[in-house]
Amino acid sequence: MQPLRERYDVVIVGGAAVGSAAAYFLAADPAFAGASLLVVEKDASYREAATTLSAASIRHQFSTPENIRLSQFGTAFLREVGTALRVDDEVPNVGFREGGYLFLAGPEGLTALETRHETQRALGADVRLLKPQLLAECFPWLATGDLAGASLGLSGEGWLDAWSLLRALKRKARSLRAEYVEDCVVGLSRRGRRIESVRLAGGATVGCRWLLNCAGTGATSLAALAGIELPVEARKRCVFHFQCATPISGSPLVVDPSGAWFRPEGPGWIAGIAPPPGADPVDPGFEVDWSQWEERLWPLLAARVPAFEAVRVKSAWAGHYDVNTLDCNAILGPHPGLDNLLFANGFSGHGLQQAPAVGRALAEWVTTGASRSLDLSRFGWAR
Ligand SMILES: Cc1cc2nc3c(=O)[nH]c(=O)nc-3n(C[C@H](O)[C@H](O)[C@H](O)COP(=O)(O)OP(=O)(O)OC[C@H]3O[C@@H](n4cnc5c(N)ncnc54)[C@H](O)[C@@H]3O)c2cc1C
Repeated sequence: MQPLRERYDVVIVGGAAVGSAAAYFLAADPAFAGASLLVVEKDASYREAATTLSAASIRHQFSTPENIRLSQFGTAFLREVGTALRVDDEVPNVGFREGGYLFLAGPEGLTALETRHETQRALGADVRLLKPQLLAECFPWLATGDLAGASLGLSGEGWLDAWSLLRALKRKARSLRAEYVEDCVVGLSRRGRRIESVRLAGGATVGCRWLLNCAGTGATSLAALAGIELPVEARKRCVFHFQCATPISGSPLVVDPSGAWFRPEGPGWIAGIAPPPGADPVDPGFEVDWSQWEERLWPLLAARVPAFEAVRVKSAWAGHYDVNTLDCNAILGPHPGLDNLLFANGFSGHGLQQAPAVGRALAEWVTTGASRSLDLSRFGWAR
């Protein structure tokens, strides 16, 4: 590895999906030509990064227009990823499968589903409302007796391989001269409205014109180094991988009214559910909470898909959402008290799909002073 410079135009803290997307969009931007870029990543194995522990799914079925737009760009990017992130003869394949999302609603959730549908359609999302009879015809393996309707994504939504996307973003960014160093940012030097330099655990101090906080659940401690309180907390979420004796084909990612979700993964399935409100452990750790499967998830899945009464769990893992405790949406852009520190944190479970659009927005902030392609002010600090 080449020695670090004394100073970089941009230093990005965190080199997973969001940091590497920002590195790629910056390095690829002609307005950034000749500028220098360093990504500081404390663990190049990404063992505990949300990116690699994610369920790696993408949907357009949000209620907030900005979330819909961020994911729509994510889909467009994923469709062209082989071209955008090609390096020499290596054309990345991130396994993007447009399998769709199916949101199920009981009588009490139908009005909200229909309202969200209006917003999504107005923004061009390819979604369709299904009445119970059509739902039962399309998905005969679902128990639909208690349902009042559903919303199905016909195109644009689905899932991918998060590791492959991360590798491709990083490889492309490096090929365009982004530098990566495996080290941990442990100190920031702030003068007035600017961050002047970062201190690394390895001993180096590196000056920066811009600093990008893409540190996932580490973003809160990083912000604290600049004297800023970031309302982002780590919340453990478990994903269970299982196989079902009965073959079921053509399943989208299904979101049950209970909050339980499942989708195909290769020849098997993955599924998860958030803990009940207020039940998140104080110290999340990375151990799988098997009681979630036994006591909540499996009974809910078997009630929704009778074939899931006979399943075999193959494996499970736990990762950490970076939850914005204010409103469960990302915090994007500059802090009102600092001119050169940009935030991209608090994705609350949507960050993988939003990484391409957020990476582009961060690059635009650096090169033009604003997010030009999308108005992301709703996700700014001012809210
Ligand atoms: C179980 C689970 C399921 C999910 N499912 C989905 C999904 O289906 N769809 C979706 O869109 N999103 C999903 N998410 C959320 C998504 O994975 C995250 O929002 C997204 O990956 C965030 O990316 P990031 O790059 O901001 O953070 P991370 O992937 O957490 O990366 C942050 C990086 O910063 C590094 N870092 C932290 N502090 C420092 C420091 N001081 N110095 C140097 N490096 C540092 C870390 O080592 C890490 O690699 C899921 C998350 C989990 C946990």
